[in-house]
Amino acid sequence: MRQSQLFTKTRKDVPSDETSKNAQLLIRAGFIHKEMAGVYSYLPLGLKVIKRIENIIREEMNAIGGIEMKTSAFQSREVWEKTNRWDDNIVDNWFKTKLKSGGEVGLSFTNEEAYSNILRQYISSYKDLPIYPYDFKEIFRNEVRSKSGIMRGREFYWKALYSFSRNESEHLDFYNKAKEAYKNIFNRAGIGDKTYITYASGGTFSKFSHEFQTLCDAGEDIIYISKEDEGKGLKMDENRVVVNKEIYNEDLKKDLGLVGDFVERKAIEVGNIFTLGTKFSEPFDLKYKDEKGKDNVVLMGSYGIGLGRLMGTIVEILSDDKGIVWPKEVSPFSVHLVRLGDKPETLAFADKLYTDLQNKGIEALYDDRDLRAGEKFADSDLIGIPVRFVVSDKTIAEDKVEVKMRTENDSKLISVGEALKNF
Ligand code: ATP
Ligand code: MG
Repeated sequence: MRQSQLFTKTRKDVPSDETSKNAQLLIRAGFIHKEMAGVYSYLPLGLKVIKRIENIIREEMNAIGGIEMKTSAFQSREVWEKTNRWDDNIVDNWFKTKLKSGGEVGLSFTNEEAYSNILRQYISSYKDLPIYPYDFKEIFRNEVRSKSGIMRGREFYWKALYSFSRNESEHLDFYNKAKEAYKNIFNRAGIGDKTYITYASGGTFSKFSHEFQTLCDAGEDIIYISKEDEGKGLKMDENRVVVNKEIYNEDLKKDLGLVGDFVERKAIEVGNIFTLGTKFSEPFDLKYKDEKGKDNVVLMGSYGIGLGRLMGTIVEILSDDKGIVWPKEVSPFSVHLVRLGDKPETLAFADKLYTDLQNKGIEALYDDRDLRAGEKFADSDLIGIPVRFVVSDKTIAEDKVEVKMRTENDSKLISVGEALKNF
């Protein structure tokens, strides 16, 4: 994309009503627009990041048998009454409205009921199971606090997968596969070395659920990590026991065989996996007949990730004083091609490199604007694409391109051939 065509402009000032670092940087760099507290629009650059995150998640979910679908945002009262979750006294974060024709609708704050209601039409025999449908969807929650930028939205975009299994071992088998897929997702998103798998409360049907918690001072959660384990790498290793504050106590410490001192740390819950058992399948009468013709209740699990929260977390933990630092796999572009000077030869050289990059399938943001070098570099650092190519009167005199990684201070001159091959 030519930057001259990108209508968003960077800003030097920090929006005065925005206290979170992720939203401040993303607004300044032109990735998002704040509509109101907890509600953001995604501008072209922001959408590109969300799409890249979405693709990583999609690939990992499909690899473990996930099947993508799309449930509606509008939900009916009857369906949610089955689980007693329509009542505002029971669920306090619904957004609801009245229909002109009478009756009410709610906007999805989660998906268990929608899935159970749909799937009961298709599950009747043991041959129909197991299945792992999922969707990417806008979720609406009337959250009380929304001061964490895109990490806690009142409207946010998530992936939710639900597993429908015949028995405990089949459920556990998938649950463990999902855990591995989540590790891949957070590693690929560049936050793996700061993310812990933690034990969290399990609800009615299992002792524990698991959360993926990324260490960050802007986090709203507290986790306990053993002192010896801190800073050792390989954080998403389940043998390294990490516990959420909500369930941590001395009994649990004994139970899990924990020794030594779980240091208290702030963290962001980027994802979770949960055993639901028959909590939803029971009220929806979600049953299957086994080989002997006997009825059994289906066992469910849920697996969520907030895409905006993940994007915000990346910004929180990987940015520096100059701006955002995108990991390769989620960056809106692979390369930021910056042209300096306006000599016809320089222009032609940069235009040709841009075309060559496109032909090689390397997505580049091409800064073809007539601005001072300082302004272009400041924008480039703020936007945070991992690789920067500079084409200037000086570099073309040597028939070279200057390359600089966002995370490094030094640049070097390389040939066009190398530029096209190595990045
Ligand atoms: P939290 O405890 O932080 O409110 P939750 O337990 O309500 O999260 P779930 O309902 O299980 O979370 O949602 C699944 C995932 O969706 C979470 O792990 C998180 O990544 C994301 N998520 C939850 N609430 C929000 C929100 N308000 N804004 C953005 N992402 C969210
Ligand atoms: Mg919540």
